Amino acid sequence: MTDIKALAQSILQSDRRALARAITLVESGRDDHRADALKLIEALKPAGRQALRIGLSGTPGVGKSTFIESFGLMLTKQGLRVAVLAVDPSSTRSGGSILGDKTRMELLSRDPNAFIRPSPSQSQLGGVARRTREAVALCEAAGFDVILIETVGVGQSETMVAEMSDLFVLLLAPAGGDELQGVKRGIMEIADLILVNKADGDLKSAATRTQADYTGALRLLRKRAQDPEGFPKALKVSALEDEGLDIAWAEMQQLADWRKAEGHWGKRRADQAVHWFAHAVEAGLLAQLTENPETQDTYAKAARDVAKGKRSPDAAAQALLSKLLR
Ligand code: GDP
Repeated sequence: MTDIKALAQSILQSDRRALARAITLVESGRDDHRADALKLIEALKPAGRQALRIGLSGTPGVGKSTFIESFGLMLTKQGLRVAVLAVDPSSTRSGGSILGDKTRMELLSRDPNAFIRPSPSQSQLGGVARRTREAVALCEAAGFDVILIETVGVGQSETMVAEMSDLFVLLLAPAGGDELQGVKRGIMEIADLILVNKADGDLKSAATRTQADYTGALRLLRKRAQDPEGFPKALKVSALEDEGLDIAWAEMQQLADWRKAEGHWGKRRADQAVHWFAHAVEAGLLAQLTENPETQDTYAKAARDVAKGKRSPDAAAQALLSKLLR
């Protein structure tokens, strides 16, 4: 039995061990843990603390951990408290989290103003989404100023992370020739800031070209209401040499401030909350149908009919729902 009140109090007092324990609680699949986790999140809500949630994506090798280390240390030096959460839907397949290796961010992980949490090993993106959102809520309650939510560009994970972030940053490496090829249009559309990393040494001029290419490509996208003039933007940085990170941070703050002043910030968070609510209802209904002994058989029979081609997927779904939700 977890003492939820005491745990909530410790989190509000920024107790890191309590925070780590609470994240373990939200990651658990056990029913009693779920109930406690929900109670805990509700108990922390009235504190109303908010961090700047920054989603960060990029393919392996682009420099995410190097960036987070340098960027995170820059922020903690300014007196800000930084939490890093990793979302790695592939971690079950590889048998361990590739983002989980704390040694990747050695200095930051030892910084008392930073908190790094590797990805929970989960097979299902939906489960990862909920656990990550809850971990974000816990870090906010613990008083972190900035929360970096890191993901590798696997499947839908970028969209998912963007849907729980205030800003979404895409990290790219300089490339020659067909550089735009690798980035899907959908990712470009959710990016607020594209950072071309490794703009140092021999790669400097390639980085300048890549930045120009992406600046051009971003201009071709439809203007979004939540963007001030000049956004989304492509910049050059060197995570290794600590260059351009201050400018990137200034741009992030400028964008965040503008969105706050214009009401987009609150609207984005409200839309996201409703999105995740709908998601939870959907997942809950499906779980009810497939796990509840009373409805399991009806569901399984309908699925068999669909598989045999006896009914269309939509007709079968409608018949099932109207029978169950009467
Ligand atoms: P991740 O897989 O995206 O987390 O990438 P890492 O941060 O592990 O970096 C992959 C490789 O790129 C490492 O060898 C880094 O040293 C190197 N790297 C990262 N950032 C930079 C940079 O700004 N400049 C250069 N030249 N190399 C970098």
